[in-house]
Amino acid sequence: MTVPTVALNSGHDIPQLGFGVFLVPPDEAERAVSDALEVGYRHIDTAAIYRNEEGVGAAIAKSGIPREELFVTTKLWNDRQAGDAPHDAIRESLDKLGLDYVDLYLTHWPTPEKDTYSNAWAKLIEIRDAGLSRSIGVSNHLPEHLDRIVKDTGVVPAVDQVELHPAYQQRDVVAWAEANGTRIESWGPLGQGKYPLLEEPAVTEAAAAHGVTPAQAVIRWHLEKGFVVFPKSSRKERIAENFDVFGFALTADEIARIDGLDPLDGSGRVGSHPLQFN
Ligand code: NAD
Repeated sequence: MTVPTVALNSGHDIPQLGFGVFLVPPDEAERAVSDALEVGYRHIDTAAIYRNEEGVGAAIAKSGIPREELFVTTKLWNDRQAGDAPHDAIRESLDKLGLDYVDLYLTHWPTPEKDTYSNAWAKLIEIRDAGLSRSIGVSNHLPEHLDRIVKDTGVVPAVDQVELHPAYQQRDVVAWAEANGTRIESWGPLGQGKYPLLEEPAVTEAAAAHGVTPAQAVIRWHLEKGFVVFPKSSRKERIAENFDVFGFALTADEIARIDGLDPLDGSGRVGSHPLQFN
C-alpha cells in the first residue's frame, strides 16, 4: 500500500498517514515502531519530550529501510526555545535517533508567557539552512502566534500540528493555514480515546456503510479533509487497522455529518490550550 503524499512549502513531500508515538514508553517504542514499519508506515512522529527517540532510532536502524524512504518528525521542547538552545536540542535529538537529519522539526508549543517562540522559530530556520531538518514547522500555534513568527522572520511554517478531531476542528487555525500554504497535522485524531468519538452515530453509521471500524472512518475523515494524520496505538492489530484506510472513501454526506460533531464552543478540546500551556 502506497500512502499518498502531500506537498509542503519547502518543496518536500510528506506521507499523509504516519505513526505517532506520544505516550509510548521508551522501552516499548522500538517494538511499536518496528511493528509500524512492518505494516508499511514510513512516517513517524516523535518529540524530544516523549523520551522515546532512541527507541524510534533503533527500530529505524534495524529495519534496513533506506533513509530516503522514511519521513521522521521530532520536536523542540519548550524549555529549549531561548538563545541558541535549539541548536543543541536538534543535535541531541539527531544523536538519539541515529540520523544525520530529520524530515521535519517543530517548535512544540508557543508557551506565550515565556515569549521565546519567535526566537525558536528563527533558530529552526538556521537549523533548516544547516541541513539538519529538511522542513520546519510549528505545533499548537494559534493564528496570533503564526502571524508573529511570519512577521518577525518572513518564513511561513511548512506545517502547524494542532489538536484536531471531529469535536474540535480549529477552523480558525485551518483557515490561516489554507490562506498561507501551511499544512495542518491533526494530533489526537481519535480524540485520544477521551470522549466517545468512536460511538457517535455519525461515525458508526459511516463505518458500517463501508464495512470498516469507527477508527478507520475517523482516520479517513482526516485524510479527506486534507490533514496529515498519525494515530497512535501500541497494539499491532490496531497499528495495522489504522493503516488500512485506503480501500474506501466517505461520501460528501458522511463527511458533512462528521463535520457537524464540533459544538463550536471549544468544549470538544481534550488536550491543553496553547495560551495556558507554559
Ligand atoms: P490519538 O487520537 O491517536 O489516540 C490514541 C488512542 O486512541 C490510543 O491510545 C487508543 O486508546 C485509541 N486507539 C488507537 N487506535 C484505535 C483503534 N483502531 N480503535 C480504537 N481505539 C484506538 O491520540 P494521540 O496519540 O495523542 O495523537 C496521535 C499523535 O499525535 C501522537 O502519538 C503524537 O505523535 C502526536 N501528538 C502531538 C501533540 C503535540 O502537542 N504536538 C500532542 C499529542 C499528540
